[in-house]
Amino acid sequence: MPETTKVLIVGSGPAGLTAAVYTARAQLSPVVIEGEPSSTSDQPGGQLMLTTDVENFPGFPDGITGPELMANIRAQAARFGADLKVAKVTKLDLSARPFRAWVGDTDGEPSYVADSVIIATGARALMLNVPGEDRLLGHGVSTCATCDGFFFREQEIAVVGGGDSALEEALFLTRFASKVTVIHRRDSLRASRIMQERALANEKIEFLWNTRVTEVIGDAKVEKIALEDTVTGDTSTREVSGVFVAIGHLPNTDLFADQLELHENGYLKTHHGSLTSVEGVFACGDVQDDHYRQAITAAGSGCAAAIDAERWLETQGS
Ligand code: NAP
Repeated sequence: MPETTKVLIVGSGPAGLTAAVYTARAQLSPVVIEGEPSSTSDQPGGQLMLTTDVENFPGFPDGITGPELMANIRAQAARFGADLKVAKVTKLDLSARPFRAWVGDTDGEPSYVADSVIIATGARALMLNVPGEDRLLGHGVSTCATCDGFFFREQEIAVVGGGDSALEEALFLTRFASKVTVIHRRDSLRASRIMQERALANEKIEFLWNTRVTEVIGDAKVEKIALEDTVTGDTSTREVSGVFVAIGHLPNTDLFADQLELHENGYLKTHHGSLTSVEGVFACGDVQDDHYRQAITAAGSGCAAAIDAERWLETQGS
């Protein structure tokens, strides 16, 4: 028999778990499908599980690690009665109310039947998929300059990519690093003209054109990177203590891409706060935000989605 719930939350990053805290405190007994630890895109706790210290989440003057922060928000949600399940939603049917969700086998009866759904599936940074990258993630390899730039004061670091994200990260990192090398696989940038002008004029930024990173090298932390010239095939290494991968993000929309309206760039469309194109389905966090992508903005949008869901359920007499 399917379990019934007033609120089903899919995803357990700062957005999903904040939505859980709020809906649980509103006595809605939410069910949170957290994701699976084995996955890199939807592990419980979201992208913060891949970072080390978080120093910009308000309320922690001495900083807190990403996993600790998520454990705290999780405990807070559980304390108010949120039902947290370490599992992965394999199928979601938003075509009729109540909505239906499957965990595991998608053939038989749904696992959950829900009056409302809050989507908080997040986004994942595209990675280079080269040796050493995964192992040293959080130990010199980063996908977020705003989060980790501060740890690289007076050090030499590399940023990989040629789009606006890469140049934005590189410019931000010049506040801390002694030198930032932007490594791009072609000889011209994809980034907007204004960002190009700013980056090219910055004395701390050097560009390595027609170059790709083939390996991230280091024992406990990044020590150097292996490079290959995409034109000549020449190989070399470069000593850096950080590698910021900025080659784009992908929102995690596979579960509902054909059921909810998306923007052209693949991010989930929301309007009037957290409302999606289907009544009773709300969204928060990075899956619908390609702009700020911060833990605190995700948490804020999770709060908004919870309040929107609560008020909508009231209009439905739930
Ligand atoms: P993007 O525009 O898709 O650029 C990705 C960059 O990474 C490209 O230069 C691409 O190289 C490179 N790349 C992709 N896969 C790679 C790989 N496997 N190995 C090496 N390099 C790889 O992504 P984005 O920079 O994240 O920007 C996404 C959107 O957000 C854009 O529309 C952008 O304008 C916008 N954005 C705006 C701002 C701003 O206005 N301040 C800031 C950030 C993002 P190629 O060029 O060779 O394809």
